[in-house]
Amino acid sequence: MKVFDYIIVGQGIAGTVLAFQLRLKGKHVFVIDKYRDSTSSKIAPGTYNPMVLKRFTPCWKVEEQLSSLYHFIEAFETSFNTIIHKPLRLLRKFASIQEQNLWLEKSDHNRLIPFMNSSFISNPYKDINADFGFGEVKKSGWVDFSLLISKFKQKLEDDGCFLDEDFDYNSMLIRQNTVTYKSISAQKIVFCEGHRLTKNPFFNYLPLIPTKGELITVKLEGLKVQELIKSNITLLPLGNDVYKVGATFNWDDKDEVCSVKAKEELLIKLKDLVNINPVLIKQFAGLRPTVKDRRALLGAHPNHDNMFVFNGLGTRGLLISPYLALQLIEFMEKSVDLDPEVDIKRYKNEMPC
Ligand SMILES: Cc1cc2nc3c(=O)[nH]c(=O)nc-3n(C[C@H](O)[C@H](O)[C@H](O)COP(=O)(O)OP(=O)(O)OC[C@H]3O[C@@H](n4cnc5c(N)ncnc54)[C@H](O)[C@@H]3O)c2cc1C
Repeated sequence: MKVFDYIIVGQGIAGTVLAFQLRLKGKHVFVIDKYRDSTSSKIAPGTYNPMVLKRFTPCWKVEEQLSSLYHFIEAFETSFNTIIHKPLRLLRKFASIQEQNLWLEKSDHNRLIPFMNSSFISNPYKDINADFGFGEVKKSGWVDFSLLISKFKQKLEDDGCFLDEDFDYNSMLIRQNTVTYKSISAQKIVFCEGHRLTKNPFFNYLPLIPTKGELITVKLEGLKVQELIKSNITLLPLGNDVYKVGATFNWDDKDEVCSVKAKEELLIKLKDLVNINPVLIKQFAGLRPTVKDRRALLGAHPNHDNMFVFNGLGTRGLLISPYLALQLIEFMEKSVDLDPEVDIKRYKNEMPC
């Protein structure tokens, strides 16, 4: 029997960030993840920004989240001697004079001053349609999710701490202080399964709603945009005139299959923004793990003290995961209370008897 401190099920952004932080604290971690191409973490562009760009408000706990994100990136880049992060200027396209006025008003608010440039940016690109110009959002950027996940997976494999298979709940034996799974034993187990939480017999009572999102990569010959541009779509420059464009939101479809409808929606929105004919390179589809109250799902199973969940990262998995992973670790290691807004205790009445 191999003995560990933690078994982590799922190695998307949630499982990766949590397992990495636990290892930094000297914990022995075993990760089980079934390889799939189209998980939310594998297809996401990996951008982050500190604001809700519809209303020009700060994100939930943004100062704490950014600080944890920067610490995580620095520690990961140092551990793996690799660069995963690129700060990027974000330009939010204004749709009207009213939006410009709202921007001016909000950029004077104390909490938003570090994130908003109060001056308008006039459109520097002849092939971009932006008659009302842009507002610049500071402290935005991009993390290479696939490099982050694959580097960490390789390390786990090298250390003999990784299994590529679908977790079989019937093979788990849970006792008061130990969890055993086949030939592995640990003190605690954490489920980081993204939208597949809906199939987990211990946590499927939680109100996780998979929300489908699709993206395309396109070539836009000669555009030369350097910034992350946000209108009703996001345009992320990948270099060599290639851009990632997304994303759609679909609450009805529950599959990870690319659709013609989403491709057309993205191409129509792209045509509104850019005057160059796009050459489609690839399309991606995934399911975001979203929650009805838009807060993450963290905590211990009501009947098993050593079984935990880390999920519900929604549309902003990158920004939120380092902050919440640290909270969960404090909870699991030192019984420090979780923020009630993310603690799954808020759904205890939904648990079947
Ligand atoms: C189109 C789109 C664009 C997005 N863009 C961004 C963005 O730019 N920035 C951002 O921060 N967020 C973005 N998001 C959201 C982000 O992708 C999610 O918040 C995040 O990826 C969720 O990560 P997760 O680890 O919880 O789940 P997942 O990414 O779904 O990972 C779960 C992992 O667990 C494995 N797994 C599940 N169940 C089991 C099991 N029983 N046994 C073994 N393995 C299992 C899965 O195979 C998978 O590898 C986007 C999402 C979509 C769909």
